[in-house]
Amino acid sequence: MSKPIIAVVGRPNVGKSTLFNKIIGQRLSIVEDTPGVTRDRIYAEFEWRSKSCMLVDTGGIEPFSNDVILSQMRRQAQLAIDSADVIIFVTDIRSGVTATDADVANMLLKSGKPIVLCVNKCDNVGSPPADIYEFYNLGLGDPIPVSSVHGHGTGDLLDAVFEHLKDYQDEDYADEYIKVAVIGKPNVGKSSLINRIAGEERVIVSNIPGTTRDAVDTVIENEYGKFVFIDTAGIRRQSKVEENIEKYSVLRSYMAVDRADVCIIVIDATEGFTEQDSKVAGYAHDQGKASIVAVNKWDAIEKTDKTMNEFEKKLKEDFSFMSYAPFLFISAKTGQRVDKLFELIKHVYEQNAMRISTGKLNEVLAYATARVQPPSDKGKRLKIYYITQAGVKPPMFVCFVNRAELFHFSYQRYLENQIRETFGLTGTPMKMVVRERG
Ligand code: GDP
Ligand code: GDP
Repeated sequence: MSKPIIAVVGRPNVGKSTLFNKIIGQRLSIVEDTPGVTRDRIYAEFEWRSKSCMLVDTGGIEPFSNDVILSQMRRQAQLAIDSADVIIFVTDIRSGVTATDADVANMLLKSGKPIVLCVNKCDNVGSPPADIYEFYNLGLGDPIPVSSVHGHGTGDLLDAVFEHLKDYQDEDYADEYIKVAVIGKPNVGKSSLINRIAGEERVIVSNIPGTTRDAVDTVIENEYGKFVFIDTAGIRRQSKVEENIEKYSVLRSYMAVDRADVCIIVIDATEGFTEQDSKVAGYAHDQGKASIVAVNKWDAIEKTDKTMNEFEKKLKEDFSFMSYAPFLFISAKTGQRVDKLFELIKHVYEQNAMRISTGKLNEVLAYATARVQPPSDKGKRLKIYYITQAGVKPPMFVCFVNRAELFHFSYQRYLENQIRETFGLTGTPMKMVVRERG
């Protein structure tokens, strides 16, 4: 399910990150119980009136340097225009409307995106200050007075944001389409891969009605099924300057992951695994998405008959946190094994959506507990009464036990492995929830 994206844009020091933290800080607690390796301070999930969405602080992407404020702001505004569903434009009551505000407002206005105008630092409760009327000149509609420090007005602000999201559709493609995100660092060959796929297959480029996103996705139908390769607003139209800033590319990857069913994590064979790879892959894992690791530029590697095995062995260590992910060694340049991707995407997608009957699960449980006895502590032994599957995408299993504290991580791991050995679940993370039952 894809969540709407709300981007915060504005000059330095108007209070964007204060606003971001206020909104997230007050409402993040609900989702915080899934500890992720990838939680980023500029991109986070929050809930408002029981709706989940993602908030992006575009100002947190790169530190502003004084001489290029306007060009940086335009870049950040462009990111918001490309990828957000609603934009919060933050201004400052103390400085009034500046020339830069007017310039950026113009740019936002031209984009046709829904925009909510926030006038920050209105710290006095009560009627809004007279100065606020000046902000109507920006042409962005009613200015909403907010004090990010105190939190006043943030509720009205979010209501205004959600007014624009009334018609937001969770799913922009029918279920029969498998949505694929091609993610990875700049220059690993993501756009080459998409172009290769698009060049070889019948492509229907579609602008989907009903979505506010300005995405041009690549829709492909072939003997394996129907696929949508999500355009991360820039995979193909990318400006190199922007992509060179690591945070932009990480952010774009996150957004693509949110919309996707399957993630293709592209890494560069000539460079090997890097820290940034683990960041985007970790996000895909945390979000419960099926994943494939595509090792690209395989043509550029000098090989012997052992090279692939050695590579795979090393990568298995690097990707040990997602040991379920299959590897595919490809070349976007020559097309080598690119055709294999579809079969694999289809396969991991099905695994991610797999439903296993309670009967079959408990056969595995009986076998597993007979083979390795559940742990005990101070004479008390763990009893697992039964397991049942409570959800898909990713498969989620609930174990009913006598005492949760006896269900050590290592035994959970063992059980997970037994389930994987029996049912496969290739390419997908799985979740295990423990419930006590008297
Ligand atoms: P950013 O550069 O737009 O992200 O701005 P920051 O969030 O870093 O805020 C810049 C400064 O403005 C900090 O000193 C904040 O404490 C201050 N500030 C932010 N919001 C408010 C507010 O609502 N009222 C007041 N009085 N100060 C604020
Ligand atoms: P992106 O930033 O991840 O979208 O990467 P690009 O698709 O723009 O590719 C970056 C560079 O790597 C370009 O110079 C490509 O020609 C090159 N490249 C991409 N795929 C391959 C490949 O399979 N083999 C080789 N040798 N070069 C590739």
